[in-house]
Amino acid sequence: MAFISFIVLLATACNHSQSNNVKKPVKATTIKKVAVILYENFDTVMLNTAIDEVKSFYHCDAIILPPQDLPAFAYYKPRYRYKADSLLKFQSGLLPSGTQSVIGLTNKDISTTTDNHDDWGIFGLGYCPGKACVISVFRLQSGPYDLYKERFIKVLLHELGHNMGLPHCNYDSTCMMNDAKGTMAQVDLERKWLCPNCKKLLSN
Ligand SMILES: [Zn+2]
Ligand SMILES: [Zn+2]
Repeated sequence: MAFISFIVLLATACNHSQSNNVKKPVKATTIKKVAVILYENFDTVMLNTAIDEVKSFYHCDAIILPPQDLPAFAYYKPRYRYKADSLLKFQSGLLPSGTQSVIGLTNKDISTTTDNHDDWGIFGLGYCPGKACVISVFRLQSGPYDLYKERFIKVLLHELGHNMGLPHCNYDSTCMMNDAKGTMAQVDLERKWLCPNCKKLLSN
């Protein structure tokens, strides 16, 4: 059963801290409207930042759903974390009509299973392609506020890029679709942009 679950994860999700084994899609498809869920008491200033950035960068509309408690079934008690793949399944069930993706925002630590780790803390996870992504600011909050905000924006746009079908980028280390491989240094190296190769995939 564990093996089957792992295969499903690799086939459908693409996190922001591990190598990308997902088969490269032929093309990506832009999303026209997203729904955003705040888990518990997520900062509304950062929520407004998320809405503004999604609208301006991907030119899509956004609606805000009522705040939710993090679902108990996603809690991984041994590490006091929430399983991001469980959150994606939860969010997929909340997709409002007329929207193509549900973005979850949380302060709590989230994790997934990788090749070498049963439970690996991550910044975000998104189906690739698919209808849900989740971003945790738990690991992004060190350093000055402006840097934290910039990191949050890049991880958010990265995970939503996965939802549109964009795979990890191997063409330009400053493209925000690079795999961060769990390092903040990679996130900080990236700029808020898509390299010509990723942009081309999205415009096909
Ligand atoms: Zn990724
Ligand atoms: Zn790229």
